[in-house]
Amino acid sequence: MKTILVTGGAGFIGGCFVRQMLDRTGYRVITLDKLTYAGIRESIPSDSDRHVFAQGDIGDTGLVHQLLAKYEPFAVVNFAAESHVDRSIDGPRQFVETNVLKTFDLLHTTHQWWKGLTDDVKAKFRFLHVSTDEVYGSADDGGKFTETTPYSPNSPYSASKAASDFFVRAMQHTYGFPTLTTNCSNNYGPYQFPEKLIPLMILNALSGKPLPVYGDGKNIRDWLYVEDHCTAIATVLEKGRLGETYNVGGNSERTNLDIVHTICDSLDAISPMEDGSSRRNLIKFVTDRPGHDRRYAIDCSKLTSELGWEPQETLETGMSKTIRWYLDNPEWLAIVQAKHDTSTRLGQGDAP
Ligand code: NAD
Repeated sequence: MKTILVTGGAGFIGGCFVRQMLDRTGYRVITLDKLTYAGIRESIPSDSDRHVFAQGDIGDTGLVHQLLAKYEPFAVVNFAAESHVDRSIDGPRQFVETNVLKTFDLLHTTHQWWKGLTDDVKAKFRFLHVSTDEVYGSADDGGKFTETTPYSPNSPYSASKAASDFFVRAMQHTYGFPTLTTNCSNNYGPYQFPEKLIPLMILNALSGKPLPVYGDGKNIRDWLYVEDHCTAIATVLEKGRLGETYNVGGNSERTNLDIVHTICDSLDAISPMEDGSSRRNLIKFVTDRPGHDRRYAIDCSKLTSELGWEPQETLETGMSKTIRWYLDNPEWLAIVQAKHDTSTRLGQGDAP
């Protein structure tokens, strides 16, 4: 059975990728996840002959080597990271530890193991690193990020991801280690931890709580439904050229305020407030995030023209599925909320 090792597979995007691999391929999936506050074991299937969950750290070189040697995956897909910009502003060191040092440990350990493989197995192996469009900085000039846009990270989160991207690049360039990198815009969809903009707004709007919006709400992000991100990753894994980076996006630029309005209006239509008022009245503008990038905009034409990938969802269809999922899955929310008091964080920040 072909085996794939997915790190950070109990998180939001990694979990979607694990579920897709189990549903759409015959691969055995090994999930390695530390289960930080953002890792939810219940988001992915139980262990079976096709799924093995290993709780552990990507920086634990012994464990990583053991998993590689035991299961001999044809690919490692790395989602493991600290991912929340607001947390990186409050405590940047953890982001350097996980996103830079431990990501390097994972790369190095995988490279050492890979060196010992036979030539034909070596040639088929791939290390795919999942990264963000935030490494490019803010697209204030009206243009879009391409794969050749110079890196210009502005937050501790994006700086740490940029550093990891450079190490991935260096491992390929220096040692011929077969890597691929994807840089994606903001994701949304089921199972997203409710500190990120869309789930937080859905949950607050449902319970009639204030909807905190940074600054004037005019910051622009490109939004991609998480299932589409995961099909892009699978496409790059299967067909991407080694050493290349591929931008992934949804061709759906919206202001944060547009997103919050869409959520309010959708929920008003599904489940009106008792007094009949609009949930837009719950919006509360709050002091802007320090160093808040104004606009992210991604050109993903390389992925479309070279590898034939296109997103299947529009923002409207994806949002409607997402809102429906949060309404239909109170058990998952109860698990997350029992483990973590999400209410203590303002955290309406971008997912990366
Ligand atoms: P997430 O925070 O939901 O999940 C991260 C997962 O990594 C969690 O399950 C956590 O337990 C695990 N993890 C953290 N540190 C670990 C460690 N040291 N060892 C093992 N596991 C560890 O994040 P996400 O939103 O799913 O993002 C996944 C990846 O995609 C990240 O690398 C992120 O930078 C990137 N990305 C995210 C977005 C987005 O919009 N969320 C967009 C583009 C790229």
